[in-house]
Amino acid sequence: MKITDAQLKQIYAHAAESYPRECCGFLLGKFTDNGIVYEIHRATNQHQERTDRFVISPEEFAKAHNSADDAELEIIGIYHSHPDWPPIPSQTDMENAWKDVFYLIASVHEKMPLNTNVWRLVDDGIRRFEFVPLEIIDKNEL
Ligand SMILES: [Zn+2]
Repeated sequence: MKITDAQLKQIYAHAAESYPRECCGFLLGKFTDNGIVYEIHRATNQHQERTDRFVISPEEFAKAHNSADDAELEIIGIYHSHPDWPPIPSQTDMENAWKDVFYLIASVHEKMPLNTNVWRLVDDGIRRFEFVPLEIIDKNEL
């Protein structure tokens, strides 16, 4: 998947603001070329009780879907942060995942970005995530 440095910074800024809770949002773009991100859209984490979960409301999904439509893009992915935890999908991430969508997980400690991984669900009888290489591109390449 391709993302610009500026977009990744937007995600890390959101993660830092939400720390120690998880942040979440949408990656709008195109599925072509192994996924290209064009826009980052923040969502509100509806999960109140725990800091290691995220939930996005159906209304925000609908809004993101409309924004994507207007821009002739698609929701190609969901991002969320893992405060003080590696960017590896949790059991809950696995249970909630949809096929074809990219899952970007940004690991953070307070204001500090640690690292980011992208995953995609494979379900050929055995449900698992496969690692998706992330390419940081220059804005001009979009
Ligand atoms: Zn997670």
